[in-house]
Amino acid sequence: MYEKLGIRKSVYDYGERICRDLKDRFEAIDLVAEYNQLKILDAFHRERVSEACLSGSSGYGYNDIGRDTLEKVYAGVFKTEDALVRPQITCGTHALALALMSNLRPGDELLSAAGKPYDTLEEVIGIRPSKGSLREYGITYAQADLKSDGGFDFDAISSKINERTRLVTIQRSKGYETRRTLSVKAIGEAIAFIKKIRPDILVMVDNCYGEFVEREEPSEYGADMIVGSLIKNPGGGLAPIGGYICGKKECVENAAYRLTSPGLGKEVGASLGILPSFYQGLFLSPVVTASALKGAVFAANVYEKLGFSVLPDGREDRHDIIQAITFNDPKALIAFCKGIQAAAPVDSFVTPEPWAMPGYDSDVIMAAGNFISGSSIELSADGPLKPPYSVYFQGGLTFPHVKYGILNSLEYLLREGMVFEDNLYS
Ligand SMILES: *Cc1c(COP(=O)(O)O)cnc(C)c1O
Repeated sequence: MYEKLGIRKSVYDYGERICRDLKDRFEAIDLVAEYNQLKILDAFHRERVSEACLSGSSGYGYNDIGRDTLEKVYAGVFKTEDALVRPQITCGTHALALALMSNLRPGDELLSAAGKPYDTLEEVIGIRPSKGSLREYGITYAQADLKSDGGFDFDAISSKINERTRLVTIQRSKGYETRRTLSVKAIGEAIAFIKKIRPDILVMVDNCYGEFVEREEPSEYGADMIVGSLIKNPGGGLAPIGGYICGKKECVENAAYRLTSPGLGKEVGASLGILPSFYQGLFLSPVVTASALKGAVFAANVYEKLGFSVLPDGREDRHDIIQAITFNDPKALIAFCKGIQAAAPVDSFVTPEPWAMPGYDSDVIMAAGNFISGSSIELSADGPLKPPYSVYFQGGLTFPHVKYGILNSLEYLLREGMVFEDNLYS
């Protein structure tokens, strides 16, 4: 079948050798998935998820038992007091903006303890001027950068905390930065440090891409809120939209009153027909996340052994599903993305081309042939066309798909003369 799908024997054999060496890593990933699968099942049982939960409401959405039960399930899985899980939360950025805007008041200061936040949050915060930003509402921003080794800079954090500091945000995943992703344990240490200085400071963790990669989540280490997108890990590839905020009752209530209206809060918000995909997606998420994770580890090893620099490297522990590969060559970056696109279940026949996307200072190439538009728990890759010509890729609903996608990307690099067959044997 690999030959039929365009993979030459030497590439296939190279992939097999790498898979063989990764057996122990894959087994460890499967054990985490097994643990998280049972954790989710336990929450389904405790909240007595029933067939009635799978039908939706319309209009105001009063007494939507499916929606309300799902939120209890999320709270159970993430071990929080409460949860807001809604299709009306349009994406991860919206969920993060909602958590911030509803829990900060004019005169408060927001502190990022993990350096520069995700690109889209710059406009939410007002680092880049934007309509409706926190800054327009008189909420100021401070930032403590990470140390050069990627760890928290505790001196910087304590020096940036002042009497107006109301909320500290910590981004778990590196996103599209070259730093390391923070482990849940490291985040826990930072939270303990912050709470020791001022126990009343709220800590929010941007949990995007991190869900179910480890056995525990930052909410089990004192985070007041964890926030993420349902078209990433916790949607399991099935949720077609949505975001979540799980945390302290008061924080979640604030978010609900902001999402709908003061006085209404969680009581309204019809789920329409979307709940089966939310339940089933969450149920599948640990195994889907494990597939993406194995794919990332496989890719790191495939490209590291060919001499490319990869982050994380082939051996280190993982705390999110993103893999970066640096090509130092635009042609190789483009070939990689073409190989991933050609491996997609949808739109495999289209050719990705670099283009000038709004918000970026260079052309960007993106590869994605998804069932859910923009979903990045599905196999997807993108990279800015500027030195060092790195690609960031993530996702994969099944490991065989990611494996094939990575082998196909290698096939494209070989065809372009960016890698030589001899390299596969050295
Ligand atoms: C994806 C992501 C976001 C934003 O989510 P969108 O759904 O793209 O708006 C925020 N933070 C991190 C770390 C992310 O990975």
